[in-house]
Amino acid sequence: MAMMKPLCCLNGLVQPVAEARIDPLDRGFLFGDALYDVVRVVEGSLLHLDAHLARLRGGLERIDIVVPAALADDCRQLVAASELETGYLYLQVSRGVAPRSHQPPSGIAPTVLIVPMAHLFDAPASRALRAISQPDRRWMHCDLKTTSLLGAVMGKIDMRDAGVDEVLFVGDQGQVREGGSSNFFVRHGDVLETHPADGRILEGITRGILLELAEQIGLPCRETPPLLSEREEWQEAFLCGTLTGVQPLVELDGEPVADGVVGAWTKQLAEALEKRNRNDS
Ligand code: PMP
Repeated sequence: MAMMKPLCCLNGLVQPVAEARIDPLDRGFLFGDALYDVVRVVEGSLLHLDAHLARLRGGLERIDIVVPAALADDCRQLVAASELETGYLYLQVSRGVAPRSHQPPSGIAPTVLIVPMAHLFDAPASRALRAISQPDRRWMHCDLKTTSLLGAVMGKIDMRDAGVDEVLFVGDQGQVREGGSSNFFVRHGDVLETHPADGRILEGITRGILLELAEQIGLPCRETPPLLSEREEWQEAFLCGTLTGVQPLVELDGEPVADGVVGAWTKQLAEALEKRNRNDS
């Protein structure tokens, strides 16, 4: 295989891979807030480039990332400069650089990275392949505090567009699981309900402390999913998290929750958490 030059194209600039630098606050790195595509290169030609770029552009539009203008030109320029003959181009477009917050700013300049990879392809139908099968667990590990946060970021975009403060993720039976970056509690029939830590939520540190505090105060708790179908019966609701603390939820989908005021248990738990945090710091 002829030697390829170790170049990449970062934001339109062809440069040595070893010299290219991506900002630590890039949302691709911090949130997985990025899409990619891979284009096969055969004897210096880009195969099905239009189809790959159309898929990439379509995806970027769907998640509201600014679509870079010069992708095709950048790809061709890089293949020529790197002298890649057989292999592929790896393209990644992230939303760009911004202070860390799940909710993305709109309209920031995307980060566009294209890297050539030399690769020898197997002859067609020349290999006998083997596989294992398993349940499809992709996008399902809510209990992992993963940086693959694109699902949450998509919720936060809808939240931003709706002009509200949080998005609540709901299961197909109307089970309210948690917020985009917070856990969720309701007071229902004078019992605190919050979704069980069964893999469908992030087991928040704040949530755990609040369950302990509720027990100390004597507020009965049940780790059971709050149901949207029972929302008329909620006496109060609140969100919690390391950055949120405890904050009442007074409106959901444009309708007041309970009577739209801060609940007594919410206040009590917010104060108990504040006291606990002061004592622990
Ligand atoms: N759920 C999700 C999805 C979160 O991102 C967060 C914030 N980290 C929480 C719950 C609250 O967790 P903690 O109390 O540990 O901050």
